[in-house]
Amino acid sequence: MIQTTICCGKCGSTALRKNGHSKGKAKYLCTACRHQAVFTPAAPRKAAQYAQVEKLLVERVSQRAIVRLTGVSRMTVAKLAKKSAGQPALAAQAKPAPGAGVG
Ligand SMILES: [Zn+2]
Repeated sequence: MIQTTICCGKCGSTALRKNGHSKGKAKYLCTACRHQAVFTPAAPRKAAQYAQVEKLLVERVSQRAIVRLTGVSRMTVAKLAKKSAGQPALAAQAKPAPGAGVG
């Protein structure tokens, strides 16, 4: 099953309704903040989530805690942990990402 969740790019709300289309893609209107745009599916949001997961893995946070914090599936966290373990130089850097505050 493929489930795509589209969120508002401005407020992150999922309360959207279709509002015409542009260049063959559906435009959406956020009913929460009235922002209107062609919202892309989950890809950018997932990339941000995975970046946060990798950051937490560097901080030695347990996988189940990462699941609670980010909402990413534990198997995905395990996959990312395995991937980052293969790159110890990258994991040791722990570069600060702009705008990615730890909450
Ligand atoms: Zn919105």
